Amino acid sequence: MNSAVKIHPAVDGGLKPAATTFAGGTLLCHCPQNKVAVAIKGQCAHNHVCGCTKCWKPKGALFSQVAVVSRDNVSITANGDKLAIVDPKTTIQRHACKECGVHMFGRIENKGHPFYGLDFIHTELSKEAGWAPPEFAAFVSSIIEAGASPDNMGAVRARLKELKLEPYDCLSPTLMDAIATHTAKAAGVLPK
Ligand SMILES: [Zn+2]
Ligand SMILES: [Zn+2]
Repeated sequence: MNSAVKIHPAVDGGLKPAATTFAGGTLLCHCPQNKVAVAIKGQCAHNHVCGCTKCWKPKGALFSQVAVVSRDNVSITANGDKLAIVDPKTTIQRHACKECGVHMFGRIENKGHPFYGLDFIHTELSKEAGWAPPEFAAFVSSIIEAGASPDNMGAVRARLKELKLEPYDCLSPTLMDAIATHTAKAAGVLPK
């Protein structure tokens, strides 16, 4: 067992199964009061843990936990005036609470992007149980860029495998194939 390696609080105790029917939930920021609330309709997809330096991570976590939902299913229901875009120049515009710093949702405004129409969310911000659990680990090597020891990567990858979160240093093959297919269609290499 490699349980001494902490990946993210939502997975360290083992993955919780998705509810067979799940109506969605409300994401809440970490402010003690006047919390930003974002309602999500329905289940998330492609949930994963991510080692990149851009995704929001809970304090002390090596990885973030991030999933996608249709942007049509995302609505700000309280204290939206506290939200600001972290960096408007990035592809994924992360809307974060200005007071506590928690990222509430990430949105792609470029209509030509393979993931346009999907918002990125952190399901652990919701109290509702039954979200689809993470399926893989993305951008694993990138945790080094955030200060993780390169010497510990063997243990980190072993723990991810133990949790059945296959470690990748980009996205999963399914998502990399989806991006490449979109690019090939846009270039006319594959039929639309
Ligand atoms: Zn907040
Ligand atoms: Zn990330």
